[in-house]
Amino acid sequence: MEPWHLKGKIVIVTGASSGIGEAAARVLHDAGAHPVLAARRADRLEQLSDDLGGALAVVTDVTDAGQRAALVDATLARHGRIDGLVNNAGVSLHRPLDRLDLEEFRRVLDLNVLSLVGMTQAALPALRASGAGRIVNISSGTTTMVLPGVGAYASTKSAVNMLSAVWRRELEGDRVAVSLVLPSITATEFGEGTLVAGQELRPGMVAHSADYVGRVILRALVTGEERIDLPHGPEQPELAELPSA
Ligand code: NDP
Repeated sequence: MEPWHLKGKIVIVTGASSGIGEAAARVLHDAGAHPVLAARRADRLEQLSDDLGGALAVVTDVTDAGQRAALVDATLARHGRIDGLVNNAGVSLHRPLDRLDLEEFRRVLDLNVLSLVGMTQAALPALRASGAGRIVNISSGTTTMVLPGVGAYASTKSAVNMLSAVWRRELEGDRVAVSLVLPSITATEFGEGTLVAGQELRPGMVAHSADYVGRVILRALVTGEERIDLPHGPEQPELAELPSA
């Protein structure tokens, strides 16, 4: 698989209004690509678009099929093609399983799993047509552990892991690479939104910056590699290095 040249690439980023998605959009812009900003909070997207030289911002609830289609249409109308998709929009759900509210779980499954599939299906015709499409799915390090209180959330992200692995193989012949990024704990608005990058939560567990995860996503887009796990502990800058650097 040829590494991507980022200049001019058109990449939809879902959940771009804060945290990891916003950081990914910023590093894409800095690298000469054109991020397309998608999330529900219009004011945040407008501000980010201003910061990024008028990047296309499309207010999108990714759980809505019509809005997913409108996002793809708006991207094609502005840019004429889609090279990449970062499926990043997601929420947490931390509660012991015996106290799980099934309606809440259904909503989280809808966002973290079904919307990711729907968004990918909506963008795939254009990604295939690009000739070297990229999809980066955002999972979680929680899927590599067995953590009481985190089972519902981790199960949604475990589904993302399997979907990514299967989709990668299904799309091999279409020259569309599917990658998985598994962030560790990251200082964003996620969950309580109280973490600070560099903060040591317990020995060996340090909150990462959204910028670090954004740069790892950039790397995954460039290389198309299957999976990048971000270990707990201090940030490891080499995981964000681009092949040509
Ligand atoms: P944030 O809460 O900062 O970002 C979540 C983003 O998802 C926001 O931009 C939000 O925008 C968007 N979003 C939520 N619901 C929808 C929706 N229905 N339609 C469109 N967009 C939506 O958290 P993070 O940046 O940390 O989270 C990004 C991803 O990283 C998630 O998938 C999360 O599971 C994953 N992750 C995070 C970790 C962490 O410790 N922070 C660790 C491991 C994985 P808006 O509200 O404007 O729609």
